[in-house]
Amino acid sequence: MRHLPLFADLAGRRCVVIGGGHVATRRVELLLSAGALVTVIAPALETEDLRLLAADGRIEHVAAPFADQPLEPFWLVVAATDDRAVNARAAQAAEAAQRFCNVVDDPELCSFVMPAIVDREPVTIAIGTGGLSPVLARWIKGVIETVLPMRLGAMATLAGRWRERVRARLPALEERRGFWQEVMTSDVASLTDAGDDAAADAALGARLDAWTRDETTRATKRAGEAWLVGAGPGDPGLMTLRGRELLAAADVVLYDRLVNPEILKFARREAELVSVGKTPRRPSITQKQLNRLLVRLVESGKRVCRLKGGDPMIFGRVGEELEALVAAGLRFQIVPGVSAAEGCAAYSGIPLTLRGVAQTVVLTTGHTEDDEAASLEFFRPGQTLALYMGVAQYATLGKALIAQGHAPATPVAIVENGTTARQRVIRATLATLATAQVELDVHPPALLFIGETTRFAQRYAWFAPSTLHELAESGNDVEERAQRVL
Ligand code: SAH
Repeated sequence: MRHLPLFADLAGRRCVVIGGGHVATRRVELLLSAGALVTVIAPALETEDLRLLAADGRIEHVAAPFADQPLEPFWLVVAATDDRAVNARAAQAAEAAQRFCNVVDDPELCSFVMPAIVDREPVTIAIGTGGLSPVLARWIKGVIETVLPMRLGAMATLAGRWRERVRARLPALEERRGFWQEVMTSDVASLTDAGDDAAADAALGARLDAWTRDETTRATKRAGEAWLVGAGPGDPGLMTLRGRELLAAADVVLYDRLVNPEILKFARREAELVSVGKTPRRPSITQKQLNRLLVRLVESGKRVCRLKGGDPMIFGRVGEELEALVAAGLRFQIVPGVSAAEGCAAYSGIPLTLRGVAQTVVLTTGHTEDDEAASLEFFRPGQTLALYMGVAQYATLGKALIAQGHAPATPVAIVENGTTARQRVIRATLATLATAQVELDVHPPALLFIGETTRFAQRYAWFAPSTLHELAESGNDVEERAQRVL
């Protein structure tokens, strides 16, 4: 480790900044925000902000160039002039006085570096790259900012308020850790976030009571919880922050086959990952077994992330699992995800509604429970149909819609492996749909869009990896179309 990270308490302690320009100003402000008493050594204060601070008496200004003024009175020295020789002299003087010195943009001269900071007062995260790449540090800061819940600060304050009481009621460290872990991901966190301290205190108190109610069975009493989380359609970037947060906190992850393995990397290293994917026509865990497994795990005190492709509430068979959880009286949360229809539409450029073209979107399935083609009697002009599943039924569906009186030239689009690097977009018509599926060898997961809005597929697309196949001309003779594609 090139640098040891430290969190310095500078409140009421004197620090000196050498230099009076913009860079110096930012350092002065940072030191002031930590409560330091700041002296600026510079012939002139070059920024309005510094002049105001000096006028308000919030900083002391020594109006002179740095010329070996004693540095002993200061805890920290920051050299921020644009003259490297002056900075070097300041660094040397600081070294002699055994004061830590930061020289802006000059890691070689530094005895301490300023980290990039993620500030969730009172939680502070410092990021250092050994002074080698401030740009990288800032980039990491950006990533952490998006991942950390905004309510972190509020949670820390709440934890501070309850720390002693929880310690008194739960003397064993292991138990306390379990308790706080539970609280961090619970509704208490949301209440704190909403600024309702009284409600948060009440909720936390109730959880603490539950933990301590029964001395003898306490160890096994830890309340498990099930989180039904949408993983999105493929691109890991499409998962919600809340979903990621819970995935990262889970003890066990039960994931579907369609979940992108990249997303599983967000789980804890110690978490148990269990694939419960149902592969069509292959023996796998039944829904009943899955429900029982879920209930058993939660009952044993585990926090279980049930990770589903897309949105859990859309063709996610969530009904059975929720029913089992409710029947067993277990706690759960549901986190939405970007559903395949939305993801595929966005990444292939199909507006689901469009002024003057489509006002209604129907999310439906291409096949029935018995693996037959679904009836699409309800389809009308002015609608965009998004059909999940049922790739094997495309031919039947196309024919049926034509038989119902829809023009054979009605445009459709198939999006296969949407939002992933393997995304393919196929434009066809009701008449050429069957050919497209067979000749282009379309496999699940694929989404079939039907309606006028699909004409815009690819025109509005931005996602580079798409491959576009056009089978857009109308024609009734499927055989003839097959010949053309071949
Ligand atoms: N709950 C999921 C749907 C599960 S049903 C959601 O909200 O998206 C499975 C079907 O979703 C697949 O048969 C396919 O029609 C669709 N699907 C899922 N991921 C997809 C993807 N990346 N590209 C195209 N279709 C996808």
